[in-house]
Amino acid sequence: MLIAAILRAKGPEVVSVAPEETVARLLTELARHNIGAVVVAEDDTLVGIVSERDVVRHLERRGPEVLSAPVSDIMTADVVTCTPDDSVEEVSERMTVRRFRHVPVTSEGRLAGIVSIGDLVKSRLRVLENDRAQLEAYIHGR
Ligand code: AMP
Repeated sequence: MLIAAILRAKGPEVVSVAPEETVARLLTELARHNIGAVVVAEDDTLVGIVSERDVVRHLERRGPEVLSAPVSDIMTADVVTCTPDDSVEEVSERMTVRRFRHVPVTSEGRLAGIVSIGDLVKSRLRVLENDRAQLEAYIHGR
């Protein structure tokens, strides 16, 4: 199973914010779209990723004034990405080892979507369910 199959099902939409937007504005986007991370983009170029975990960590460290700081203060600039041709297994492994739950997808240098650990788990469960149904049909000679 490839990342491309997941993107076909969920679409290419990626919620993004500019690096100079405030952390408060970022929280609005997370809540409005019911998501855990947004990519940080400048003129269509990926410059970072910021998740709810970054907000929690910086709130604890700096207090509520972090809400008026720019997103660039708390984002991770060194973003791990994948491509539509990567396998779901490979990207799941990368997420588990690096301990993050979101990976933007790029194709020919452009942002083509984002996958979360939830998307990957869902697709792996579907494959397993399909395998189980096929085995059952084989065993029962159907
Ligand atoms: P998450 O598990 O996605 O909430 O993210 C946990 C931490 O990893 C946060 O500090 C994020 O900024 C960072 N992070 C999330 N996704 C990525 C990614 N694809 N590449 C690099 N860092 C990431």
